[in-house]
Amino acid sequence: MRSATPAPGSRIDCADPRTTDSQVHTSPSGVALAVDIGGTKFEVGLVAASGEVIVRRRCATPANADGEQLLSALTQLVDEVLAAQAGLGVWAEVCGVGSGGPMSTAHDSVSPINIRGWRGFPLRRRLAEHTELPTVIDNDAKALALAEGWLGSAAGVRDYMAMVVSTGVGGGIVLDGRLLDGADGNAGHVGHICVVPDGRLCGCGAYGCLEAEASGTSIAAITGAPAAEASRVVVERTGLLIGRAVSSVANLLDLKLVVVAGSVALGFGAPFFAAAQAEIDARSRIEFAAGARIVPASLGADGPLIGAAAVGFRSLGSLLSTP
Ligand SMILES: [Zn+2]
Repeated sequence: MRSATPAPGSRIDCADPRTTDSQVHTSPSGVALAVDIGGTKFEVGLVAASGEVIVRRRCATPANADGEQLLSALTQLVDEVLAAQAGLGVWAEVCGVGSGGPMSTAHDSVSPINIRGWRGFPLRRRLAEHTELPTVIDNDAKALALAEGWLGSAAGVRDYMAMVVSTGVGGGIVLDGRLLDGADGNAGHVGHICVVPDGRLCGCGAYGCLEAEASGTSIAAITGAPAAEASRVVVERTGLLIGRAVSSVANLLDLKLVVVAGSVALGFGAPFFAAAQAEIDARSRIEFAAGARIVPASLGADGPLIGAAAVGFRSLGSLLSTP
């Protein structure tokens, strides 16, 4: 087994990725056990230093399950993946987890909105005990930001935001080559920027949040049909509202690239991105933000596992900024 080499001066404290000096953009060494926690599926894999997904197992997220039943389904996948190591001649040195938010302050417990059986569930500790690996959890949108900066549409870019527009709307921001964490680890959660003053009531309690207007859940509530059946008018309205939020972020943070994943955005495709780009062009006019682009994420179905692996590698200090 190869071991990751921490960056000079970086600390290794896998309980809290914020305590490391880890960044993005160069390949780590070693292999990561990658765990993606989603509302519809659990997926576990081994991801190589190159970003290649070597092995993967998935199952539907158990419905109406309690916390221990959910953990049992997850650890069964973990055991299957770890059992494949000997035959492959690789050994995981870290476990990285991407999970739906919100996160706890210490990145220790999870309360994914779409998984009701886990509320304040100590997933990091339980997985660490089960795998005997240093284990780190982060928000799935932040994990995607790491993945897209490592190997995807933002490769080589030091300042960008990654977004997920699916059931909900989330995001992660990389500035100066560093993923932003924030006080509670939720930095970049673009879903609660106001895009329609006095608009629809959001799950957070405010009105007119991006998530309340442009998420798959909201589109279904507005139109009475799944987002996949949305009309051209709804697709373009959704793109416009995403673009409105993106323009504010670009103007605020001096960045020129936003990468978007998620079933709603990617399912809507070109008309969605064109509407978003037109709104950005109209609202990001100040010189440093003018020319900001919104593009689809490029890692596809591998993005969540690569992102989870990146969360793990980041904690080891083995994702480093090169420019
Ligand atoms: Zn909100």
